[in-house]
Amino acid sequence: MECADVYKWLQAYLDASVTAEQERAVEAHIRACLECRRKLVELARAVNALERSEPLPPRAEFTRRLYEALQKEAGVPVGDPVRKPRRG
Ligand SMILES: [Zn+2]
Repeated sequence: MECADVYKWLQAYLDASVTAEQERAVEAHIRACLECRRKLVELARAVNALERSEPLPPRAEFTRRLYEALQKEAGVPVGDPVRKPRRG
């Protein structure tokens, strides 16, 4: 799978509207590809921000699980959108 394909699927992935096979393919790619991981985190944050203004969307739980998986498996610091990388 190439990055361009992953980008196309990321939104569907966050919506949990990909097939199990696609989900596995996306996850396998983002584990190996820092660029797509960043893109996914960006999208996940945007989705999460939207969810805060909408009543109980069904994918809230999915997004929360995604955050946890990203933090655990990829070491991506998500969950604190205001945190900025330390300089120096
Ligand atoms: Zn990629």
